[in-house]
Amino acid sequence: QNALLSATGTTIFTVMSALAAEKRSINLGQGFPDYEGPRDVVEAAAAALLDGRNQYPPLTGLPELRQAVADANRRFYGLEIDPAAEVVVTSGATEAITACLMAVLNPGDEVVLIEPLYDTYLPVVKLLGAVPRLVRLSPPRWELPREALAAAFGPKTKAILLNSPMNPAGKVFTAAELAFIADLVRRHGAYAICDEVYEHLTFDGWKHIPLMTLPGMREHCMRIGSAGKTFSLTGWKVGYITADRSLGPNLAKAHQNLTFTTAPNLQRAVAVGLAKGDDYFDGLAASLQGKRDRLAAGLAALGFGVLPTMGSYFVTTDFRPLGFAGDDVAFCRHITEAAGVTAIPVSAFYAGPEDSPAANGPVPTHFARFAFCKSDAVLDEALARLAAWK
Ligand code: PMP
Ligand code: GLN
Repeated sequence: QNALLSATGTTIFTVMSALAAEKRSINLGQGFPDYEGPRDVVEAAAAALLDGRNQYPPLTGLPELRQAVADANRRFYGLEIDPAAEVVVTSGATEAITACLMAVLNPGDEVVLIEPLYDTYLPVVKLLGAVPRLVRLSPPRWELPREALAAAFGPKTKAILLNSPMNPAGKVFTAAELAFIADLVRRHGAYAICDEVYEHLTFDGWKHIPLMTLPGMREHCMRIGSAGKTFSLTGWKVGYITADRSLGPNLAKAHQNLTFTTAPNLQRAVAVGLAKGDDYFDGLAASLQGKRDRLAAGLAALGFGVLPTMGSYFVTTDFRPLGFAGDDVAFCRHITEAAGVTAIPVSAFYAGPEDSPAANGPVPTHFARFAFCKSDAVLDEALARLAAWK
C-alpha cells in the first residue's frame, strides 16, 4: 500500500463531524452552511437533469459555464479570459488544487506552502514527489513573515500555494503582501496556485484581490474558485480554474486523469449562478458578516479571545481565558462532549516536525475554529449551550 497515504490521518473535518453526530452536538466544525443555496440555481440544476443533461460533458467543462467563469473574471476583477483556452471546470476546488499541482510539478520540485494550510495541500504535494517548503503564519496577527517567505524560495522552487481569503485564519491578504509574493514568484520564474474559494465571502469593506491581477502575474497564476462556497452548495463540488493559455493543455490533462468531467446539470446551474446580479453577491457577504458578528460577539461575551475575521466562514478563538487546561484537540473534543458544540482545533492546519524541520514559529495549540455559516437560531443555540457549560 502507498506509504504516504497510510501515514496520512483521516481529515479533521470528518473526524470532528463524526464525533459531533455521535454526541448530537451542534456542528460548528466542518464548514458547510445549514441553509439552502439560491433557489433559482437549484432549480436550474433540477431542470437540467430532466432536460437530458446526463451524459459526459466536454472535458474542460460546459461551454456556457466556461463562458460564465470568463465573464465573472471580467466583471469582478477586470481580467480578460478566453473561455475556450483559459478555463477548466473541475469536481470541486479540491480537484482543482490537485490538478494545478499536477500540471506544473516534476518530482523533486519544491513547493512553498503557507501554514495554516488546508488539509489536502501537503499530502498531494508529497504524493506528486515534490518537496514542501513550509512558512508559518501565527495567531493572533497572522502576519506574513516576509523574511521566512523569501528564504523558502530557491532555485528548485516551482510553485507557491496561496489561500486568500484564508481558512482558518479569516485573513484577506493585503495588496502590499500580494505584491511581495508576486515579486518572489516572478523572480524565481515560479507558478502561484491561488486557492480563492472564499473570494466572495469578505467583510467590512475588505476586497479580495486575485494575485493574477498584479502586474506581470497573469502567466504565473492558476486561480481557483468553488461554486460550493459562492452558492452555499458545498456538496455540489463544482470548481473552476482560470489560468493562462500556456497552462491550459496540462491542466486539461490533469483533469482528464483525475475525474475527466464534472456533473453537467450542476455545471449548467453554476453558469446561471455566476450570472446573478451584484445584489446576490453583496447579499451573500452581508448575510455572512451578520452571522460572523453574531457568533463573534457571543463567544467574546463568554470570555473567548475572538480574533478578527476579514473573510471566509470561520472565526478563530483563543480559549485560554476560559481556564481550560489542555490543548486545542482536547478542548474541541471536550466542548463536543460536555457542551454539545463542536469546533476544529487550529493545530490541525499545521504540519508536523517531519515536514517542517526549520519552522519559523511554534504550532499554536490553544485556538479553536468555529464556523458561522449557520442559521441564526443554530448559532444562538450553540452560544446558549456554551454558556450553560461554562
Ligand atoms: N480550499 C479551501 C481553503 C477550503 O476551505 C475548501 C473548502 N472545503 C476547499 C478548498 C475545497 O472546496 P470544494 O468543496 O469546492 O472542493
Ligand atoms: N473546507 C471545509 C472546512 O474547512 C471542509 C471541507 C472538507 O470537509 N473537506 O471546514
